[in-house]
Amino acid sequence: MSEKIAVYPGSFDPVTYGHLDIIRRGLSVFDHIIVAVLNNSRKDPLFTVNERVSLLKTATEGLGSVSVDSFDGLLMDYVHKKNVKIVLRGLRAISDFEYELQIASINKSLNPEIETCFMMTSNRFSFLSSSMVKEVAKYGGSVHDLVPEAVEQAIKQKYSAGGHGL
Ligand code: ADP
Repeated sequence: MSEKIAVYPGSFDPVTYGHLDIIRRGLSVFDHIIVAVLNNSRKDPLFTVNERVSLLKTATEGLGSVSVDSFDGLLMDYVHKKNVKIVLRGLRAISDFEYELQIASINKSLNPEIETCFMMTSNRFSFLSSSMVKEVAKYGGSVHDLVPEAVEQAIKQKYSAGGHGL
């Protein structure tokens, strides 16, 4: 049988333990996961795409068969280029569901061959998001339990280097 490869797309601005939990658990289902950082039009990311890729590479070291990449434009064009048929996404709350359903439906209409697989968040990460991490860090709170060490340091540097909006 051929290898089961999934693309796990997102902003990852920055990667949190919630993302890593999805990747770790995803690896029990898929042979390989390509974490794909979207270089999107979202106005004001804290980290550049290269920084996000680099933090993800550090964070996923030793997890298993994971590669980290970035892409522009439509996810469906990217997965086609990579010859992958599965998109992996995480679901936290009902609010995620509506958004994810919309994206998955649009993607299905763009390419019916692609399946989006959802993995439920682990309870302890259900309220964890990159924006929450940034909010806490911005006002000097500890994000130690929410993100890996390298990310914690990187956020501290960002905010001490003159600040940057959310
Ligand atoms: P996007 O802007 O594409 O939503 P994110 O980086 O916020 O990018 O999230 C990428 C994916 O990871 C999404 O599917 C999101 O639902 C999922 N995710 C983010 N945080 C968590 C978490 N704490 N638990 C489970 N899934 C999560």
